[in-house]
Amino acid sequence: MSAPIDVNMQVLISEEELRTRVNELGKQISADYAGKPLLLVGILKGAAVFLADLLRSIDLIVDYDFVAFSSYGADKKSSGVVRVLKDLDVSVEGRDILIVEDIVDTGWTLRMSYLRENLLARHASSVKICALLDKPSRRMVDVGVDYCGFVIEDRFVVGYGLDHEGRYRNLPFVGIVG
Ligand code: 5GP
Repeated sequence: MSAPIDVNMQVLISEEELRTRVNELGKQISADYAGKPLLLVGILKGAAVFLADLLRSIDLIVDYDFVAFSSYGADKKSSGVVRVLKDLDVSVEGRDILIVEDIVDTGWTLRMSYLRENLLARHASSVKICALLDKPSRRMVDVGVDYCGFVIEDRFVVGYGLDHEGRYRNLPFVGIVG
């Protein structure tokens, strides 16, 4: 069996830094939505680990659900299509929603899925976006990230839910594959 962690793995954001920042985000979100129930909508699969920790750092009545989109590879810009693989199981009408994303890179996933617009069209009260990581130097379309864990440089990162070819999602830190 191969080792779970490559010896060449460089830690970019440690477990401790993640814990501290996620707790800060939870406190900020709890203050901003004070007294209102909140629905977290995670984008599978990458956001699952972040959502699980964020959820437990929020001091509100909070529920969560997931959506999944097809990964569209290199043709994303030309096709302009993101297929919905899994829609929400719950109604969003009248609810305050926080979309939870692992990383916003070019911004195409959030733009082309029209997730925010779709939730508003289904009469959500409000829709904001929370991303653990943001790579603004790669942005091609503006998506308006309302809460951001860490701004990072243009490096391919793994761990804490993020994968490379199906590996590394279980790392407790965010690392760079060497
Ligand atoms: P965007 O559509 O904003 O370009 O990309 C968003 C998605 O691309 C993320 O949800 C994630 O799945 C993937 N992605 C972008 N950058 C990285 C990265 O550095 N590492 C990993 N593992 N996935 C990334």
